[in-house]
Amino acid sequence: MAQKIIAGNWKMNLDIDQSVKLIRELNTEKFDSDVRIILFPPSLFIDRISKVIESSIQLGVQNFSNNYNGAYTGEISINQVKSVGAKIGLIGHSERRSYYNEGDDILRYKVNQAVKHNFEFIFCCGEPLSVRESGDEFVFVKNQLQDSLFHLNVEQIQNSIIAYEPIWAIGTGKTASSSQAEEMHKNIRLWLKELYGPKVANSISILYGGSCNASNSKELLACPNVDGALVGGASLNADDFSKIVQSY
Ligand code: PEP
Repeated sequence: MAQKIIAGNWKMNLDIDQSVKLIRELNTEKFDSDVRIILFPPSLFIDRISKVIESSIQLGVQNFSNNYNGAYTGEISINQVKSVGAKIGLIGHSERRSYYNEGDDILRYKVNQAVKHNFEFIFCCGEPLSVRESGDEFVFVKNQLQDSLFHLNVEQIQNSIIAYEPIWAIGTGKTASSSQAEEMHKNIRLWLKELYGPKVANSISILYGGSCNASNSKELLACPNVDGALVGGASLNADDFSKIVQSY
């Protein structure tokens, strides 16, 4: 059975005081222990805010280097982020793919780094609007997974989580319908089954991301192959984020 996960990606928002305030507000909420909650704040704040968390909320990084150490100005390694308490990292978010030209090769190197250093990750995939409109979304997403994730063997893939995030739904207020989300998640599960067998496929969480909010989360999270959500904008507000977790 896949773990239920609600993750919040703060992106490049909030300063340290606002981040601490948000964590303090989340400290006052009651969450079901069945749901794993992970926040992705700016990496710079992980050490500080980890000391403010009074619940089982875990922290992760929005990005990390495909190199382990050395002369890579401005980069941050798995080793470094682990040392301040990060438990997990995002790989392949569409904003990294499009604004920072992170292509399939770099993403595969990041996946390999994470596996090598036993660092859990959420691998993001999803099609742009033009691909959805041409009806090629399944081929597109399968290619993304084949190019950077599905080279892993059955032992290696078990420490990963997949997030399906249609690009046309990210930060646009336009959400995939529950049937669109379920259809893609079902296919991802099928590809996992074909490659890794049903036991492993059913144990990998597949999250939905793309304008998930307190009003649409219940319906999305009720889909049989949706094991949670990766939330952007709505994770910046304690009340909205808590409602999403509580709607599960
Ligand atoms: C995201 O960036 O991962 C995301 C899902 O953003 P939003 O919820 O704002 O669409």
